[in-house]
Amino acid sequence: MRCKDRESNRGITPGTHPQNMYIRANFFGMDKIQMVDLKAQYKRIKHEVDQAIQEVIDTTAFINGPAVSRFQKELENYLSVKHVIPCANGTDALQIAMMALGFKPGDEVITASFTYVATAEVIALLGLKPVLVDVNPETFNIDPEAVEKAITPKTVAIVPVHLFGQCAPMEALLEIAQKHNIHLIEDTAQAIGSEYRFSDGRVQKAGTIGTIGATSFFPSKNLGCYGDGGALFTNNDELAAKVRMIANHGQSVRYYHDEVGVNSRLDTIQAAVLSVKLRELDQYAARRRALADAYDAAFGHSGKLITPARAPFSTHVFHQYTLQTHGVDRDAMKAFLEERGVPAMIYYPVPLHMQKAYIDPRYKEGDFPVTEQLCKTVISLPMHTEMQAEQLQHIIHTVNQFLNA
Ligand SMILES: *Cc1c(COP(=O)(O)O)cnc(C)c1O
Repeated sequence: MRCKDRESNRGITPGTHPQNMYIRANFFGMDKIQMVDLKAQYKRIKHEVDQAIQEVIDTTAFINGPAVSRFQKELENYLSVKHVIPCANGTDALQIAMMALGFKPGDEVITASFTYVATAEVIALLGLKPVLVDVNPETFNIDPEAVEKAITPKTVAIVPVHLFGQCAPMEALLEIAQKHNIHLIEDTAQAIGSEYRFSDGRVQKAGTIGTIGATSFFPSKNLGCYGDGGALFTNNDELAAKVRMIANHGQSVRYYHDEVGVNSRLDTIQAAVLSVKLRELDQYAARRRALADAYDAAFGHSGKLITPARAPFSTHVFHQYTLQTHGVDRDAMKAFLEERGVPAMIYYPVPLHMQKAYIDPRYKEGDFPVTEQLCKTVISLPMHTEMQAEQLQHIIHTVNQFLNA
């Protein structure tokens, strides 16, 4: 058993001082299970992170300091992409991508009905028309056949979301995009580091395959900073320049504004943290995968839980480990787990077309049966890089206890 604060407890006999009630609980109990354990992760890289942050403070280069371009180059190398353009968050990244591609109000952008709201939000904010399509019931990712059917003369782009850490079927989507001369904007917020394998054997990293990729460095993402952050990826020089200009108030020369832009920057402190964590990213993905393997082995034969499918064309970096329940009261399961110290989350409980802000006469309940079914049956278990063996045992035991009750 790994104990919290073992060092600081040295010399204290449990139970001999009144204040030891707290220490005792930690000394004999296991660490609290979290959906994402950022504190335990920080402890392992504390020295490097603290030093990197201190360096930024010492130089007071808080905005566009050298750590930003350093991280940019490191990420370009890691992803094998020509341009990484850092920005303030993942939602901004999606918005800037659509601004840089020059979409006009009324243009149609196709995306999945089963996703985080940010994807549709920026489409709506820019006055574009979100066109939703259903997803594959096994991978939860956008269904290319449904995409093809949704294309009209007004379609300007498809936004596949590499949901939960696995690439959408990019080869089929690329074919559709090329055929109709439209753009592919990859929402890579949940899948940084994931690799797509083309049928000819070529391998490319998520976010570098379409016209442009957008990602988020929100703390709980697979590559997360200690605040907000995001970035865009592209191999197109002209588009990269345009993206840089738009993210910087529409100026490429200071105080000369060619277009209406936005102010979206990655803080130097965040870039410094990201450089440290990028070095760990593949190791982090391996740990997430090992945890997923353990869950798969424990629940794969239960008959009541469907373990997440692994597409043959993509590696899975398990941003989330998401089960589908089958003939089980999902909400009762969530409550049962939480009462026993096992957090669980529902990603996502309401499909986009049934969200109040996105109600649209074009869509009604029943239009996206796979998405609607998933919203009723999915449940995500704790998934992070720091899971301890006894925590894992407790999660598996508690889930099985519920299934066998
Ligand atoms: C997190 C996330 C975003 C938005 O990222 P922020 O940095 O929070 O703005 C966009 N799309 C998806 C799929 C996400 O998971």
